[in-house]
Amino acid sequence: MNAGPTIERMRVFLVESPIKMARAQGVGSVKGSVRRVLLQLTASDGTVGWGEAAPWEVFTGTPEAAFLGLDLYLRPIVMGAPVRRLRSLMAKMDRALTGHPEAKVAVEMAMLDILGWQTGLGVSELLGGRVRDTIPLSFSIADPDFDADLARMHAMVAEGHRLFKVKTGVKPHAEDMAHLEAMRDAFGDRIDLRLDYNQALEPFRAMTVLRDVDRFRPTFIEQPVPRRHLDAMAGFSAALDTPVLADESCFDATDLMEIIRRQAADAISVKLMKVGGMLKAQALMAIADTAGLPGYGGTLWEGGIALAAGTQLIAATPGISLGCEFYMPHHVLTEDVLEERIPQANGEVVVPDMPGLGIRISDYSLKHGAKHLAEA
Ligand SMILES: [Mg+2]
Repeated sequence: MNAGPTIERMRVFLVESPIKMARAQGVGSVKGSVRRVLLQLTASDGTVGWGEAAPWEVFTGTPEAAFLGLDLYLRPIVMGAPVRRLRSLMAKMDRALTGHPEAKVAVEMAMLDILGWQTGLGVSELLGGRVRDTIPLSFSIADPDFDADLARMHAMVAEGHRLFKVKTGVKPHAEDMAHLEAMRDAFGDRIDLRLDYNQALEPFRAMTVLRDVDRFRPTFIEQPVPRRHLDAMAGFSAALDTPVLADESCFDATDLMEIIRRQAADAISVKLMKVGGMLKAQALMAIADTAGLPGYGGTLWEGGIALAAGTQLIAATPGISLGCEFYMPHHVLTEDVLEERIPQANGEVVVPDMPGLGIRISDYSLKHGAKHLAEA
């Protein structure tokens, strides 16, 4: 049987992009720039597809490992691979290289992008078709300067934004409480407030802290304690009215099975860089749906290509119903390789109508949108 076009060319870029605001995230701070890996695949019919690996060293892996993983270990498998046999390629990559979910999802993005341009279909259609055309956008309150964040919130609420996720546990608890109070005072119930501790609390005394912040009626409290403390997570989930969301505790389906078995969370953060693929993310959400856990579209420091993939995934995955935090290209990155950013309106990401990932990258935008550190 003719398997159709195959992959004929693979280019890998390690790039660095400047960012325009400091981000204090508890486990790791980001200031000045972020490093990512971009992947360009060309099929034998000339169709080009793009992917991105955006690891964060304190969370998943390193951009340098993703770059070398793609260039040295995945290149021999990807070259010559039939575009229409994606699942087979994903399985081969899993056998050839352990871990490296960010490198593998970059390949999957580029393959689906090619298939989309070849067929005229958006990646969301290739993933089963859209269940939503817009996705509520959450902005993270993580500026070391809280007054700057509050000013930003005023401007954003006026533009229609509702979802804000506060990075708690970075500053002293009393400061967190004062900031939450200031936000509720300023905006009342016009904002949907979520809290993310990024593993900052120790199980010892965490319940006291969480009961305090619970009074600000957050929609969820994300990852209060380090990822291994599932029993503590289960305790919070049982004791608090506010749902507990697992991020660092839930990378993939194996983690999720354990969370469900121990009732350690009420919702999960789905990140392509943790789970290693859009197909795998949909499989993860099938388990979560069955257990009654909704998903949230989380991020690390992705640029426009990976966030386009996330947008396509959420558009086609009913269970990821808690919105997304795809604000980097609009609010944080000063440059990106997209010719045009994915539109956002009234506090929502608008799923693009174009084929593939719904974005365009040119040699010009690639050259001028990011600083190139290495190319293979
Ligand atoms: Mg998180």
